[in-house]
Amino acid sequence: MRSLSVLSLSSAPLQVELHVHLDGAIRPETILYYGRKRGIALPADTVEELQTVIGMDKPLTLPGFLAKFSYYMPAIAGCREAIRRVAYEFLETKAKERVAYVEVRYSPHLLANAKVEPIFWNQAEGDLTPDEVVALVCQGLQEGESAFGIKARSILCCMRDQPHETIEGSSLFPGHVRAYEEAVRSGVHRTVHAGEVGSAEVVREAVDKLRTERVGHGYHTLEDEALYQRLRQADMHFEVCPWSSYLTGAWKPETEHAVIRFKNDKANYSLNTDDPLIFKSTLDTDYQMTKRDMGFTEEEFKRLNINAAKSSFLPEDEKQELLNLLHKAYGMPCSASAEAPRTCDGPWALAASSLPDGFASVQLLP
Ligand SMILES: [Zn+2]
Repeated sequence: MRSLSVLSLSSAPLQVELHVHLDGAIRPETILYYGRKRGIALPADTVEELQTVIGMDKPLTLPGFLAKFSYYMPAIAGCREAIRRVAYEFLETKAKERVAYVEVRYSPHLLANAKVEPIFWNQAEGDLTPDEVVALVCQGLQEGESAFGIKARSILCCMRDQPHETIEGSSLFPGHVRAYEEAVRSGVHRTVHAGEVGSAEVVREAVDKLRTERVGHGYHTLEDEALYQRLRQADMHFEVCPWSSYLTGAWKPETEHAVIRFKNDKANYSLNTDDPLIFKSTLDTDYQMTKRDMGFTEEEFKRLNINAAKSSFLPEDEKQELLNLLHKAYGMPCSASAEAPRTCDGPWALAASSLPDGFASVQLLP
């Protein structure tokens, strides 16, 4: 267990991020480096050009957003050195953003080129298995934790549309349901992308069939008031990604953003970047957006980060350590131990995320 005490408590308050995709948080410089080194063609030669091609400034459809990954993932997937470096650099970036604790998610299968069917990104078959991808990411994260004084855990994703299936509506595939049942049995934590652009019914499925402990996005929960009230009663955590929701079209700016209701109701939610490479953002983008356009205050930022820490998948003792760190940084009394902790028994987290039109993820990691 790594101590959080090396973190400086000066300057901006510390933050907790629970919803960010490793493969959507790679540095453009690193993509260009491995594209050149491995002789893999990329759609641009400079950081600026690459950001123009893979970044977004205006809303796109979800398929348009997902297509961005195919431009750059070939440069990283299948390369042991690149995968480890991406995980390490991710923590350097998050430390600079004043993140004390991050849960980062990814699908190992998207980075492997062996024992995976299909092999993604038109890669030739190689010898990098999903298991080894997990080991490499863990190594990169552990090195990053030591170097940058940040704490990280990962969540392994499975994709709603894999393997070989087409998504119709919000139906769940038996394999995914079984994976979640096994996770429940094994004490593995679970989160699910639901209600991002999909309906409240998808959220209900995530809660009732997959027994998710958190909801990724979850904006459309509000279309079903009874479901929303039920989740509020259960203190369900919503992993909100404001800037992402604008660029993916999950939130229509002419409507009130769900996070405003969450704030007004003092609901349990966090603010997160989701895919900062593609959204050309940092965590500050999301905080500034909610502060400038939605009336969020510093007090609300503290409250939501404490809720994020409580809803993290850390074991109870490490969760308490994180809460103590936040209380200290925020100048609040360390009364966290008196507050009811959420139940989290396992060292592993399993999360299913489902981008509504068919990109589901499930995650695990120490
Ligand atoms: Zn996401």
